[in-house]
Amino acid sequence: MLSQGIVTVSYIIATILFILALGGLSNQETARRGNWYGIIGMTIALLATIFGVVERHYEILFVALLIGGSLGVILARRVQMTQMPELVAVLHSLVGAAAVAVGYANFMDPGRLSHFTGVELTIHDIETYLGILIGAVTFSGSVIAFGKLSGRIGGKPLTLPGRHLFNLGLLLGAIWFGREFVLQSATGSGMEPLIIMTVIALLFGIHMVVAIGGADMPVVVSMLNSYSGWAASATGFMLGNDLLIVTGALVGSSGAILSYIMCRAMNRKFIAVIAGGFGTGGGASASSSEEDQGEVVPIDAHETAALLLEAKEVMIIPGYGMAVAQAQHTVYEITKALRAKKINVRFGIHPVAGRMPGHMNVLLAEAKIPYDIVFEMDEINENFPEIDVSIVIGANDIVNPSALTDPDSPIAGMPVLECWNGKTSVVLKRSMATGYAGVQNPLFFKDNTRMLFGDAKETLDEVLKAI
Ligand code: NDP
Repeated sequence: MLSQGIVTVSYIIATILFILALGGLSNQETARRGNWYGIIGMTIALLATIFGVVERHYEILFVALLIGGSLGVILARRVQMTQMPELVAVLHSLVGAAAVAVGYANFMDPGRLSHFTGVELTIHDIETYLGILIGAVTFSGSVIAFGKLSGRIGGKPLTLPGRHLFNLGLLLGAIWFGREFVLQSATGSGMEPLIIMTVIALLFGIHMVVAIGGADMPVVVSMLNSYSGWAASATGFMLGNDLLIVTGALVGSSGAILSYIMCRAMNRKFIAVIAGGFGTGGGASASSSEEDQGEVVPIDAHETAALLLEAKEVMIIPGYGMAVAQAQHTVYEITKALRAKKINVRFGIHPVAGRMPGHMNVLLAEAKIPYDIVFEMDEINENFPEIDVSIVIGANDIVNPSALTDPDSPIAGMPVLECWNGKTSVVLKRSMATGYAGVQNPLFFKDNTRMLFGDAKETLDEVLKAI
């Protein structure tokens, strides 16, 4: 058994490593190092907790660690890059479920009333209550987010009439039962209000996420990330574990900052997103608007290769379809071939491209695309007039001009990559289907747009061969 002093020092070291990890992850060049800091910090934290805090029942602990650890390894090995967002949502739900379980275990602990009395008991009860509340909202919200991200639940927002009143009712109910719980708990009961609140919180989590439209899902993902942090922090309070409180707060606040960044990238107000109702879904409106908007001009791989070879400035805009097709390695080969011919190739990354924050950056880094030619939307959007060819790979919503021109569009107001201001845009996709937000894209019908239909990996392989 480690001494209290060693545990405290280990916790401080782990905290510092977690902060360094977050710092490292904020930049592509240092992300790998940041990951290592996180891994080392977590190992120290686990060892200090197992050998310094746990006092008995090691057999249960090790069996649980073995089962949990093995499941984690299997999941991480099996998951496809395209399923990452769903996996992240599932993992958030587990943090929420853990907070609920710890909360109930804490409440049912027979030693509770002898450990705490008076104000201390009230504070402990409020911690338990809040921990279960945040945990349950995180759990059910993340399960619904998983459904939406994996396509099991449609993207259309479910906007019940009087939904704000319904939310307010749930909130008031949670406060009322909180009061009941604290009053009853001192007398040894209180299970009933606790269970009712858990049901309320689960309903709230479901209602909150089903009300949010497809186009606003990035904010939900980062928001649930933040909630899972607060749930972990609440668990830390319940267990009296300082490291868990700090780690949870780090996750909670970085998730909150990420939500803010995503909202700004999409030109949305956070409160408006949470209140729900933005963004429609479906994706079936393609054919009717197709006729309205005119003809599309197809192009083949050889013509695309010829266009690229004639160009001086090329911009590659990756989207979710590049992740689906796993085309990033071919993209790298094409980039290398063009750069060898002194053609300036750059990448334009939209903050909500793909299905999770940083999705495209991860794929491009995996394919070893040099970081210095990868630009954020804000950095390169003004440069499009000088671009000869933009290659839009499986991207749709993030290059949709109607976001700027149609105030009724579910993505209205969202800044997009304005590739149509360049000389020619070549859009790679399989059909005329819509993207995640379910809206048709006028870019496809513009005079200077060419459509290269087919799976992005297959068509890019042909383009590479032709180059
Ligand atoms: P979109 O979902 O708008 O479009 C992707 C396009 O890729 C589709 O139109 C599809 O067309 C095409 N595609 C799919 N598979 C392939 C393939 N194998 N080969 C070629 N093309 C393919 O993606 P964007 O990246 O443009 O935009 C992201 C959207 O996702 C935004 O609406 C954003 O709000 C949302 N979102 C983002 C999150 C984030 O954190 N980044 C999280 C949740 C949602 P076709 O079927 O015709 O091939």
